Amino acid sequence: MSTTPEILDCLIIGSGPAAFSAAIYAARADLKPVVIEGPLPGGQLTQTTEVDNYPGYPDGRTGPEMMEDLKKQALRFKTDVRSGWVTKVDLTGPIHKVWVDEKTEIHAHTVIISTGASAKWLGLPNEIRLRDIGGGVTACAVCDGFFYKGQTVALVGAGDSAAEEATYLAKLCPKVYMLVRRDEFRASKAMMHRVLNTPQIEVLYNTEVKDVLGDQVVEGILTVNNKTGEERKLNVTGLFLAIGHTPATELFKDWLDRDPQGYLKHDPDRTSTKVAGVFVAGDAADRVYRQAVTSAGTGCMAALDAERYLAVLGVH
Ligand code: NDP
Repeated sequence: MSTTPEILDCLIIGSGPAAFSAAIYAARADLKPVVIEGPLPGGQLTQTTEVDNYPGYPDGRTGPEMMEDLKKQALRFKTDVRSGWVTKVDLTGPIHKVWVDEKTEIHAHTVIISTGASAKWLGLPNEIRLRDIGGGVTACAVCDGFFYKGQTVALVGAGDSAAEEATYLAKLCPKVYMLVRRDEFRASKAMMHRVLNTPQIEVLYNTEVKDVLGDQVVEGILTVNNKTGEERKLNVTGLFLAIGHTPATELFKDWLDRDPQGYLKHDPDRTSTKVAGVFVAGDAADRVYRQAVTSAGTGCMAALDAERYLAVLGVH
């Protein structure tokens, strides 16, 4: 027996700051939003420890607590938050079709995609273990650099993000080792020159991390020169990864435009995409800023865009 799918005004996919900010705005506009939380309820912030750079928390807040707060606020305005994983979408018609956990079909006039992105990691056992216990391995210098003020740290990567994050760290730390796996940068020349002209940064070319040392916190890293095989211990207390991110956008590739890294494209100055009624917010569409606060901002924008779209459509 088949059941008729429900038709929503606003379906939000994801559960990070973008998703819940969109939900707060959509719910207050009476769009009765449904949030499908996805595989990592709360998003990337649930994998961090202290968040000190989100406005409104003068004493900081842990990432998981902050996501609980955002969810509670969305629930206060009667957002319908459902656990489940969106496994398929069909964005051909004016009514968008979404399948949750491969079986439940939902229809929606507007869809806000805020599926986020995940940082890439080296995959070393001790790197992942220390990351998971908040022991000094992180993929966000802007978020966590402050905790390493006055300390010696290492950063892996050679792209624009790595260059930007190394120079950011150099303002806080007296010594930043930048580990570049080839004998050249990938970053733009301008960014590279900034790094090379920053005395606090020592660039180690052809250098990879072999192991991360320390039981509860980072006490050093073991590096290897991939040309000579020479190993070296660096006495650092923090390890920053800046080796790229993977946006969670695979599901939408047949319907929406993506840039070469997979980030979703949207109209200039809007969160709308080439499919009417489909909006994007947060890190899934942001390869540059990737901050909780910018993500929340675009979530708000997406909800306002969805509301206006529904009004023009005469649905709401
Ligand atoms: P990129 O993919 O450009 O660079 C990733 C870097 O990480 C590369 O240098 C790569 O090395 C290195 N890397 C990847 N895997 C490993 C590994 N296992 N071990 C060691 N090193 C590794 O990612 P970014 O995040 O830097 O940039 C993404 C996009 O965003 C780019 O288009 C960039 O230009 C843009 N961007 C722009 C900014 C700006 O304009 N202000 C700021 C930040 C990003 P290798 O070079 O050897 O492949």
